[in-house]
Amino acid sequence: MSMSAAEMHVAVLGAGVAGASAAHALAEHGFKVSVYDKGRIPGGRAATRTRASDHYDHGAQYFTARDPAFVQQVQSWVDCGVVALWQPRLLAIGAQSERSTPGGEARWVGLPGMNCLASSLLEGLDVRCGLRVERAQRDESGWWLEFADAAPAGPFGALLCTLPAPQAADLLADEPLGLLAGEVEFAPCWALMTEFARPLPVDFDAAFVNRGPLSWVARDASKPGRPAGERWLIHAGTPFSRAHLEADGKHVAGLLLDAFFAAIACPAQVPVKSATHRWRYALADPPLHVGALVDARRRLALGGDWCQGSRIEGAWLSGQALARQVREWRGSLA
Ligand SMILES: Cc1cc2nc3c(=O)[nH]c(=O)nc-3n(C[C@H](O)[C@H](O)[C@H](O)COP(=O)(O)OP(=O)(O)OC[C@H]3O[C@@H](n4cnc5c(N)ncnc54)[C@H](O)[C@@H]3O)c2cc1C
Repeated sequence: MSMSAAEMHVAVLGAGVAGASAAHALAEHGFKVSVYDKGRIPGGRAATRTRASDHYDHGAQYFTARDPAFVQQVQSWVDCGVVALWQPRLLAIGAQSERSTPGGEARWVGLPGMNCLASSLLEGLDVRCGLRVERAQRDESGWWLEFADAAPAGPFGALLCTLPAPQAADLLADEPLGLLAGEVEFAPCWALMTEFARPLPVDFDAAFVNRGPLSWVARDASKPGRPAGERWLIHAGTPFSRAHLEADGKHVAGLLLDAFFAAIACPAQVPVKSATHRWRYALADPPLHVGALVDARRRLALGGDWCQGSRIEGAWLSGQALARQVREWRGSLA
C-alpha cells in the first residue's frame, strides 16, 4: 500500500534559500518535513548580521528574478512585505578607475535583511537550527541523521541535501551523488563590514569594483528598511580571497580597508568598528545547471545554488526541483 504524503517524513539539510524553498513546497503539498541547519538562524549565504547596533547583509547583496515561477514568488514576498526594490546609485569601477553605470535590471532585497527570504518560507515549519549534521546514512527503515550533541533523528523516507557542494561531498562521501558533488569547485570570499562616524564623501551607494582586490562595495543604509548609519559592506574578489584564505581576519581587514579607499578615491578614514567574515564556500566556480542531482533508488537528492547557476534565484529554483522530485517519488506530482 503506498504511503500518503504526510506519512512520508522528509529531512531537508540546510535552511538557506534552497532548503527553505524545498521545505515550503513540500509542506504545501502535505508532506511532513524537518529542516536541519548548523547555523544559529535560517538564511545560509543570504545572511544578515544584526549583532548589537550592527546591520549588514554580509553574503548575498540583492537578487534578480527572471524565471516566471520565481517572479511569482518575488511578487508574493512583495505582497507580504518580505521583499522590496533596492534602487541604489550604482557604479561599476573599472581597472583604470573609470566609472560606468551598470544596466537597470530590478534588484530586490529582503526586509529588513536578506535572511528574511529563507525565514519567511520556513515560517511554521519544523526547523532545527544549531544542529550540525555529522553523518547521514540509510538502512532498511530509511535515512538517519547523526549530530555532535543531539540524539539521532529518523527514519526519514527521503533526504534532501542543500549544503554547498564540498560540504555535501564530505557528508555523503559514500554515496555516488557525494562523489559528483565533490567535483564542483567553490570559490571563497572575504567580507569586511565597517562603520564610519560620518558619511563618506562619495556620490554612490554601491559599486561593482573591477580594480585591485575588491569586487563589490555597498552602503547598507541605502537599502530599504535598514537602520541609519554609515555602514559599508566590502567584498573581496576571488583571487584575493583565495590568496588570503587562511589569513588572520584583522590582517585581511586592514588590506581591504586600504583597497576600499583606493577604489572609491576617497581620503582614508578610521572606522568606528570593523569585522570580517570569511565565506569559505561562497560561489560555485563554475556551477551546474541541472536543478538537482537525484538518486531515486536511495531516495536522495542534492540541490542548492550550485546545481542551478549560483544565485538566489537558482537556489530557489533548485529547491523547487527537489520538492518536485519527492512528489514524483510519492506519485503525487499533479
Ligand atoms: C559573498 C557572497 C555574495 C553573494 N552575492 C549574491 C548576490 O548579490 N545575488 C545573488 O543572487 N546571490 C549572491 N550570492 C549567492 C547566494 O547567497 C546563494 O546563491 C544562496 O544564498 C545559496 O543558497 P543555498 O540554500 O543553495 O545555500 P546556503 O545558503 O549555503 O545554505 C546551505 C545551508 O547548509 C548549512 N549547512 C552546511 N553544512 C551543514 C551541516 N553539516 N549540517 C547542517 N547544516 C549545514 C549552512 O549553515 C547553510 O545554512 C552570494 C553569496 C556570497 C557568499
